[in-house]
Amino acid sequence: MSGLDFLPSDQRRLFIGGQWSDAEGGATFDVLDPADGSVLCQVADAAVADAERALEAAVAAQDAWARTPARERGEILRRAFELVAERSGQFAELMSLEMGKTLKEAAGEVTYGNEFLRWFSEEAVRIHGRWMQAPAGGSRLLTIKKPVGPCLFVTPWNFPLAMGTRKIGPAVAAGCTMVVKPAQQTPLTMLALAATFAEAGLPDGVLNIVTTTHAGDVSSAIMGDPRLRKVSFTGSTGIGKQLVKQAADQLQRVSMELGGNAPFVVFEDADVDAAVDGAMLAKMRNMGEACTAANRFLVHSSVSDEFAKKLADRMGALTLGRGQDDSTDVGPLIDEKAVDSVSRLVDGAVSAGASVVVGGQAHGGPGYFYPPTVLVDVPHDAEINREEIFGPVAPITTFETEDEAVAKANDTEYGLSSYVYTRDLQRTIRLAEALDFGMVGVNTGLVSNPAAPFGGVKASGFGREGGFEGIEEYLDTTYVALAVD
Ligand code: NAP
Repeated sequence: MSGLDFLPSDQRRLFIGGQWSDAEGGATFDVLDPADGSVLCQVADAAVADAERALEAAVAAQDAWARTPARERGEILRRAFELVAERSGQFAELMSLEMGKTLKEAAGEVTYGNEFLRWFSEEAVRIHGRWMQAPAGGSRLLTIKKPVGPCLFVTPWNFPLAMGTRKIGPAVAAGCTMVVKPAQQTPLTMLALAATFAEAGLPDGVLNIVTTTHAGDVSSAIMGDPRLRKVSFTGSTGIGKQLVKQAADQLQRVSMELGGNAPFVVFEDADVDAAVDGAMLAKMRNMGEACTAANRFLVHSSVSDEFAKKLADRMGALTLGRGQDDSTDVGPLIDEKAVDSVSRLVDGAVSAGASVVVGGQAHGGPGYFYPPTVLVDVPHDAEINREEIFGPVAPITTFETEDEAVAKANDTEYGLSSYVYTRDLQRTIRLAEALDFGMVGVNTGLVSNPAAPFGGVKASGFGREGGFEGIEEYLDTTYVALAVD
């Protein structure tokens, strides 16, 4: 089975309490192919009543799941990891169809996203508290880690699998149940993952999937219920702020993985060829539709011409096309709005004085394509340097001193990832400490790693996914005071 057949039509529905079911009134919505705007298929369109059903199922499964031995939870995750690995080609094809990314990119995401299942299958058995003597003597202090309880996960369209597994992996390992609401543009991959988890032996009700076009109503209904204990959201800063406010009503714990505006700083002592390789990764992964995407290139004036020329040569050589074609390097953006937004930022930069080295004009359709673009002489205060571009555009700004580079890099409300290219160890340490970002890549264009704590500061949110820290988001601490004579 490949392509859409990997997700049979009876599974293009809600997954609640271990059963596939229609949405209230049989409502459905269209899933579109971003390469040409055509309809791929329909999936169930959940209403508030369906959301309530899903939460009910998660609540009903919570106690038994929390009591399930950690080894068993870990083994189920491990089986799910193995099944996803066996089916990686099918997952990649399905994801490429609904999201547009190339098969190579999609396969990379399956490998990356699946690693969270493996990593947390190993972490499940390492949940433990501590035992200590009170400093003044007379009692012992114990801590016990317990699952936080039923969770709501809301995920974006840009990484349909990995943005889910980063939450599902640690929650399953910690003993939490959950309702997942994937993005309406890319619901299919998450439904296929639910089917795979069921085969791996995950008990009914632990993982529930609600696909919907009514994101606000559905999440409000679930979050309005005091039995929900945790919300983890990946998406835009604006929606993240709304959800934090909503979570305050029931004092639910929150993790927020929000937008980014990553600086990519190239110093005069950098290996420029290595910096261009890193820039291709940091900029072009997922067509630039990544929260970690290099958004602002800050290049020392002495190497900026060489860097811009080499980057433009590489970007200009990429082939645009349908994600499923072998010859394609760069797939379509997610929708027309995305193309309009990228065009507006590029046009604005040019009006502000920037020059186009390569690209710079939208493709014109059919499909939502924008060509890889390099801009030079971009004023530091241009809108393109302030907003998340979310497309294949590299705006280059120059600097003269290290202090200026740090000041420009930190001059953003966001604080997710940042990149630095230098061969000077002292400078590396200074920069890692001075950059106000949750992640700093040094001489690399890729920071994402399931064994590392992924997350941001400032308007990029809070909480960490992956690493030893990832499971803590799903654990509460109970402290026990033991009197000792
Ligand atoms: P978005 O519009 O915020 O949507 C993200 C998710 O939120 C979708 O499932 C969406 O549902 C849902 N949503 C929309 N309105 C909602 C509401 N009122 N209440 C509850 N849920 C709601 O973001 P996006 O455009 O899909 O994704 C791009 C953004 O995600 C970028 O800013 C990017 O940087 C960020 N991102 C961050 C990370 C990270 O780890 N920091 C990773 C990936 C992406 P619908 O699909 O139905 O609208």
